[in-house]
Amino acid sequence: MAEKRDYYEVLGVARDADQKAIKDAFRQLALKYHPDRNKEPGAEERFKEIAEAYAVLNDPQKRAAYDAGGHAGVAGFSPEDLFGHLDLGDIFGPDVFGFGFGGGLFDRLFGRRAGPRRGADIETIIAVPLERVLHGGPEPVRVTRLASCASCKGTGAKPGTQPRSCEKCKGSGKEIRKQLRGAVAIQQITPCPACGGRGVIIDSPCPNCAGRGQAEAAETLTVTIPPGIEDGTMLRVAGHGMASAEPAAPPGDLLLVVETARDPRFNRNGADLWRDEIVAVPDAVLGTTLTVPTLDGSAAVKLPAGTQPGATLRLRGKGLPRFGGDGRGDLFVRVQVRVPAKLNRQERALYERLRSLAAQPTTTTNSKRS
Ligand SMILES: [Zn+2]
Ligand SMILES: [Zn+2]
Repeated sequence: MAEKRDYYEVLGVARDADQKAIKDAFRQLALKYHPDRNKEPGAEERFKEIAEAYAVLNDPQKRAAYDAGGHAGVAGFSPEDLFGHLDLGDIFGPDVFGFGFGGGLFDRLFGRRAGPRRGADIETIIAVPLERVLHGGPEPVRVTRLASCASCKGTGAKPGTQPRSCEKCKGSGKEIRKQLRGAVAIQQITPCPACGGRGVIIDSPCPNCAGRGQAEAAETLTVTIPPGIEDGTMLRVAGHGMASAEPAAPPGDLLLVVETARDPRFNRNGADLWRDEIVAVPDAVLGTTLTVPTLDGSAAVKLPAGTQPGATLRLRGKGLPRFGGDGRGDLFVRVQVRVPAKLNRQERALYERLRSLAAQPTTTTNSKRS
């Protein structure tokens, strides 16, 4: 397979091109290479390339993933992910090509297939640690799934033997019964009772999967996490879902729902991080310098004198990358003041003295000022 071209190059736009420039470039190229208008050899391939580049660059999240990781950053997206949300009506108007631009064309170009034969998708949560959200990169994920049995290659027949075609249904797996009700002919289709709808009979079942053609398999995959990935983002790994019950049909996809892993240091809120920092009463009263952990190491933060409980300090740019945006969020440090529950004798004496001072009228200060 030829190396994929850079999406910006495909559309002929600069890397910092805005949405409108990207849309304009796509419109011009798509009109030129649309396979129903351009019958030159290579036009269809070119159109696919253009549509794919646009589908990625038009979507801020996908564009960020591409900017961060190149083609590998968007490799997990299936045609459904890429083109499912693309509204071409607003680009071309409904009648430019004289036919629906959506479903049919994309099915034809990208081989999207419908129907029940494909295996089911598996949806699972992937907990991504904050450091990985910060830098992006490979993250391992372990999944157990019902996969095509390795020893019989999914046929269900003992290795060395072959399943034979069902004679009753001639391999179709269906039984068709015709009934006449009044003047109406009714056709009823049910799974063939001889082969259970599989279309084949297995004389000697595979011992590994008991003839089912599927077996549990654990697998460790690596997915590329784009920096700043948000909670709830779905990454699709094509072909790693459930095996289909039919040996020739492709497996489903693995859908990974991203969740930020719990972290004892920080809570995540979008691109911002929050942290509670406990300080002693004298530090809140007199001020001090705190050493606060950040994702980049630790930072010295000035706590001003007279800081109130619940006050927040903001460390700009110490949060997570903004997904599909620029720069990083902030780290907010919420100050909790720890009131001592127990005092030694000396401390008690000092607090007593503080209390008696606070009870006195504050005229001294005022008279000095005037
Ligand atoms: Zn087997
Ligand atoms: Zn049959």
